Amino acid sequence: MQITAAVVRERSAPFILEKLDLCDPRPDEVIVRVVASGMCQTDLHGRDGYFASPYPAVYGHEGAGVVHAVGSAVRALAPGDHVVMSFPWCGTCPNCQQRKYCYCVHGRRLKMHGTRADGSTLMAKDGAPVYSAFFQQSSFGTYALTQERYAVKVRKDAPLEALGPLACSGQTGAGAVLNAMQPQPGDSLAIFGVGAVGLSALMAAKIAGCDPIVAVDVHAHRLALARELGATDVIDHSGRDKVAEDVRAVAPGGVRYALDTSAQPGVFREAIEALMPGGTCVLLGSAPPGTDVAIEMPFLQQGRIVRGVVQGESLPNDFIPRLVDFVVAGKFPIQKMIKFYDFGDINLAAHESSAGIAIKPVLRIG
Ligand SMILES: [Zn+2]
Ligand SMILES: [Zn+2]
Repeated sequence: MQITAAVVRERSAPFILEKLDLCDPRPDEVIVRVVASGMCQTDLHGRDGYFASPYPAVYGHEGAGVVHAVGSAVRALAPGDHVVMSFPWCGTCPNCQQRKYCYCVHGRRLKMHGTRADGSTLMAKDGAPVYSAFFQQSSFGTYALTQERYAVKVRKDAPLEALGPLACSGQTGAGAVLNAMQPQPGDSLAIFGVGAVGLSALMAAKIAGCDPIVAVDVHAHRLALARELGATDVIDHSGRDKVAEDVRAVAPGGVRYALDTSAQPGVFREAIEALMPGGTCVLLGSAPPGTDVAIEMPFLQQGRIVRGVVQGESLPNDFIPRLVDFVVAGKFPIQKMIKFYDFGDINLAAHESSAGIAIKPVLRIG
């Protein structure tokens, strides 16, 4: 079928809306009419060549839409269902066998390779391949093809155009808290970097009853939104280098949980130094390969845990509907961090995302 998609023709080139051909679904695949798609830094990293994936390419991995067509073996979905498209996994590697899908050993290839697992391409222009299958979805198009198991059915009374970000930034932040940390009511938590991931973590921390919830950032507008979404205390990091002490002024002895979304070694170290004995610091930010951080050994010895978390360690088919319930109940007001753009303004959305003007850009596509 013919679709319109945002194509990047070469490294760091602008997105261009083009008419492309999308192949038919295989038995276990579905075609989704994309209603809206969030934009995440990973899309722009793809555009800019971070993953050595081929061009021309179509990105987008926070798609929400309506099932348009299903393959012959699809049972869980039917045309007309509302879905959020989540991250891919292989299903057979040692981690997938233990349902640790976020740590699928083939995950990176499935996300970044531009093709299905078997190397076949999904889109073409005048017969020439266009590499898509980004996170096995490429949601920057009017229609997207994905596997049945990656398309999560969601309730129809939820605001579909706002749900795409739950697929990546939403479940990354909220899952780090609700799945990985699992705090008790009254546990202290500090979030370093309150962009879309950090704010999602913050809303989850409020749901979990964390207190205090400390938000650290360098952008005043983000800190203001963090306060609105439940931060009990905010710290402006700009021009300061002893932020761990500031956190300890709010939470004497340190916090039980700290979260870093900045991926900057200096900030990550401050997040670790803000911990109380026995506390846990979770790293969510993606730093370039080769980035190191130093930790004082006696400090770590006091039961402190430092660990990374990917995709919120969520099982998308369970966790995304749970987050949607929170959205409908008004407990996870994701709309407050979203700035909507028309599909044709995708380059403006990319610019305003990189410039920190838009916390979570969402493209209205169809
Ligand atoms: Zn796997
Ligand atoms: Zn993402």
